[in-house]
Formats: sequence, C-alpha cells, structure tokens
Amino acid sequence: MAEGAVPRFWREIPQRYNLIGNKCNECEKVFFPPRESCPECRRKSMGKMKDFKLSGEGEVLTYTIIYEASEKFEGQAPYPLAIIQLKEGPKITAQIVDCDIEDVKIGMKLKSTFRKIQDDGYVGAIYYGYKFKKRN
Ligand SMILES: [Zn+2]
Repeated sequence: MAEGAVPRFWREIPQRYNLIGNKCNECEKVFFPPRESCPECRRKSMGKMKDFKLSGEGEVLTYTIIYEASEKFEGQAPYPLAIIQLKEGPKITAQIVDCDIEDVKIGMKLKSTFRKIQDDGYVGAIYYGYKFKKRN
C-alpha cells in the first residue's frame, strides 16, 4: 500500500460516514463541510463552531448527467450529479444512485447513503463516501 494512503482514508471516515458538518453558535448557520469560523460572524464565531450531524435529507436544486466519467469512475457513467440543498441549509454536490437518469427531477427528495466511491486497484484501497438516493 502506498505511503500515506491509510491515514488519509481514515481521517476522512468520520465526516464521510456521518455527514458531520458544524454549526455557528452565534447565528446557528450550519456548514458542510465544517468550517473553522463562520463567514458571517467571523471573529465572534471563533471557538463557537460546534460539530453538527446532518440528517442527510435534502432535495435536488439542479443536476447534470455525467456521460464521460474519469478513469476512476469508469463503468458508472452515465450518472446524475446533483447540487443538493440539505434540509439544514448547506448545499453539496453528490452523485445520485439507484435512480434512472430520466427520473431525476429538480425538487426531488433525497436521502444520503454511503457507497463505494472508487476502487483504487493500485494502492488496494476502497474509498467510501456519501451519495444520495431518492427518498419516498
Ligand atoms: Zn455565524
């Protein structure tokens, strides 16, 4: 296994598996990924950013269909890539899974799920991360 592959992988797990963002205790704004300080409260938010677990619920703001994936995502294209408005406020970009590309719609309700992102044959590591699927 390549030097550095494991620490990077493990460091990313808590955030990826739990959709942990953070929240400014001054204005209650939620961020994902977490930020060191709130861009609105700035200095007042220093030391007042608290971890915040997102529900993983959101909806499609806009999306695009990826027809030609990079080498690492080969075999997965075509797939929908969406900008998702999370219930708690942050917007994130993620792949939508378990859904026909014709069925993806703006405003579609989604729920996060954890899936294999890529299988890196070279270092033998399998990366997992969040994706979204339709919520009924
Ligand atoms: Zn704030």
